[in-house]
Amino acid sequence: MKREILCTECAEKRIKNFGMEKSGASIFTADPYPQEHVKLVQGKAVQPFICDYCAVDIMPEEKCFASSIWADHGAQPYYEWEDEFITIKKEKEDAKVQKETSSS
Ligand SMILES: [Zn+2]
Repeated sequence: MKREILCTECAEKRIKNFGMEKSGASIFTADPYPQEHVKLVQGKAVQPFICDYCAVDIMPEEKCFASSIWADHGAQPYYEWEDEFITIKKEKEDAKVQKETSSS
């Protein structure tokens, strides 16, 4: 798994380039290639970072994204690492709608 901290601008480009879909509060995902996955989580920096893509400074508390890229056959599978680096906004999920589990 490749882990990166991205500034908002770079993250938004990546969301566009990969055609990523919002898959939860503050989460964007895509599968750009067979068995390959990208996940972006939006949050606020817990400490100063430098954007791993464009090297701009990211200040503490500034909005940024944690990016993960991994493959099913990769040596290191995805695990949740984001909340060590960013504070993830816990929106009350607009969720009850999705709770209707399969009743077919
Ligand atoms: Zn950047």
